[in-house]
This record gives sequence, C-alpha cells and structure tokens, in this order.
Amino acid sequence: MPDGEPPKTGMRRSGPTSTSVLSEVTITGGRMTGRTDDLELAALATQFDLAVAKAAPSTSDRRVTVIESAAASEQDRAVGTDHRWETLITCPLLQPGLHANPLVWGARKPTPELLSRELHSTGLPTLERDHDALTVAESLPNRRSGAVVMEPLLAAALLHACVGHTVEADNYVEYGEDLGIAIGDQWSTHRELHVLDDPTEPGHSGSYEVDDEGSAARSTTLIESGRWESLLTSCQHGPTLGHGLTGNGRRARGASRITPRNSILRALPGADEPTSIVESIDDGFYCGGPRRSGSMREFVRIEIAWARRVRRGQLTGEVFRDVELRARKGDILRRLYAIGNDVTLFDNFWPCEKDGENIYTTLGAPHLGFRSLVLYPSTPGQGPR
Ligand SMILES: [Zn+2]
Repeated sequence: MPDGEPPKTGMRRSGPTSTSVLSEVTITGGRMTGRTDDLELAALATQFDLAVAKAAPSTSDRRVTVIESAAASEQDRAVGTDHRWETLITCPLLQPGLHANPLVWGARKPTPELLSRELHSTGLPTLERDHDALTVAESLPNRRSGAVVMEPLLAAALLHACVGHTVEADNYVEYGEDLGIAIGDQWSTHRELHVLDDPTEPGHSGSYEVDDEGSAARSTTLIESGRWESLLTSCQHGPTLGHGLTGNGRRARGASRITPRNSILRALPGADEPTSIVESIDDGFYCGGPRRSGSMREFVRIEIAWARRVRRGQLTGEVFRDVELRARKGDILRRLYAIGNDVTLFDNFWPCEKDGENIYTTLGAPHLGFRSLVLYPSTPGQGPR
C-alpha cells in the first residue's frame, strides 16, 4: 500500500494473522526518532506531542510513539485487513518518587483519523484527569473503605475483568461453581445494568464479522436488568452447555487453539449524571487510571493510579496513588448503586491476556457508583491491561 493512502477498513476475522511494523516515530523530550521521513506519521506524532504537553504540563521526558502496522501476509494486506495505527504515550511526573508510575495512555485504531479522534475524545481528558490527581497524590498508608465512583475507563476495566472473563465458557466451566451466583441469578440489584458483547460494530479493535471458527458474529446480552443471562462460547463449550454458538471463538496470533473471548464488551448508559453520582457520596472516593487488572477465578483485582477523596458530595484535594481494588466478582456488582449516562467506548492499546495468549478487545462503560468497597495500598504496575 503506497504511503499516504488511507487503509481499507473492511471487517476482518479475529485472527490469526501476524503483523509487522510498517513505520514508527517516537518523540522523547521534543526529539524525534524512527522513520522521520514518514511525513504523515511524523506530523501525527508532532500533533499528539503538542496536545499532550498542554494536557499534562508538569511532566518531564514525555514520550509519544505512533506506529503504523499491518498484517504480514500479502493476502491479508491485499484485502485491507488488520491494518492499524497505534499510539503509546508515557509522561513521567516531575515529583520525586512518582517516576515508577507515570501517566500512561495508549490506543489502536484502523485509521490515523480515528486514532487522532480517540486521543482527543478519550486520551487527553484521561491524561489531564490523571495529571491533576497524581501531581498532588500521596501514597495510601493503609486500607480504606468507602463508597467508590469509577471514571469510565476504570469502570470498563472492572466490567471486562469481572463480567467479561467470567462469562467466557471455558472459565465458567473451570470456576463457575465458586462464584456464589449462577446464570439466571440477579448479579446486580441495579435494574439498569445491561452488559453486552457485540463484535459487529465496525472500526474497533474488537470488531469482526466472523469468528475464527467461522461462526457469524452477533450481539450477546450478558447481563440484562442486573440479571446474568448468558455465556460467550466457541465450538468446544457452546453446544454442551446449551448456550449455542455466540461467535466468540477467537485465536491469538501464533496460537493453535481457539477459546471463547470478549470482543466489544460494554455496559449501556444509565440515567445518572456523573456529577450527581459524586454528589451522592457522603464519604468515599472518586477513582481513575486503571493500570494492571486481572480476573483470578472468582476474584477481581485492579491497580488504580489514583483515588480522590469525596466528602459531603464534594471532590477534595486529598488524593491517594498506587491503590488496589480486590473483590469477589459475585459481591462487587451487588454494591453497584449508580450508573452514569456517559458511556466511553475505548480501543485499548494493551491486549487482553488469557493463559498467555493476547488478543485485542474494546471496552466500554459509563461512570459507575459502588457502595462501600475496600481500597488497598499497591505496588505500581506498568500499564493498563
Ligand atoms: Zn482480559
């Protein structure tokens, strides 16, 4: 494909093509390296670097990388599949002691225009919010409990780990009995909680028309009105569990086996204004900046960059960094009491890992409010998962 020509963005099967980097430009502390003769990429990186400098002014050695990659096989490239642009932005903060946990944000999209739009719609507000919190944050000295409001990226990471992995049929077979809830049960008492997996929406990391077993992609309702409705299946488990095929059989690049995986997993918007969710808290935390997150059988664990104290409905200047949330999956959604009207859909730079195999997924959620969760001090991780 000649330089500068926009890629075709045809829907692809979910794998297992291998990709190669076509071009890569990095700006570190104002200095550009990589394929600086690729003018389109260089212009994009410069534009991103300037925008990030405004959003996160108190940073040193800001690093902005923009990558264009494509499927390695001629055949896949010919049909325009798996061509994408990625950006990874890291900004170490100036304050001593915070360098281990920089501001970090990354995304992948099928065109440079969509990547630029993602940076402006999701990236810059996220970096700005993380910057404002982390520049005044102190370590969490000991565990704290209180009501917790999660900003959308954190809420999406929680739903991915808590719901997304649990409803994968192979995981359900492995530890479903230990969850304390079953399909058909009211997972959340909040009747406005609706969660679905739908790979058919084009233009996202998790988009496809046909899965790697040849099943047609479709929308699957996982939670409806708080009630657990369904699993995500592939050929191995779907028929035996009586759930049919949901079109979620996906193969990681280079892997031989196909397992049921998430595609575009999102919660639908609720009725609450995000500001009114914060105002409803007497004593608690507004949390954001998901770092590593994980589903471990019936438990979920997420490292959170910051937790800002809320007192009598007001955000305060008291902010804790390096916080960790641990909870039982069956319990945490029962504590959900507020669902924002503001869903953010996000194409994560970091892949979803399961048994060492990585695929790309899309996450989406609104602000979510929880009654009484426990926040633990944590060791900073490397980046969102
Ligand atoms: Zn995952």
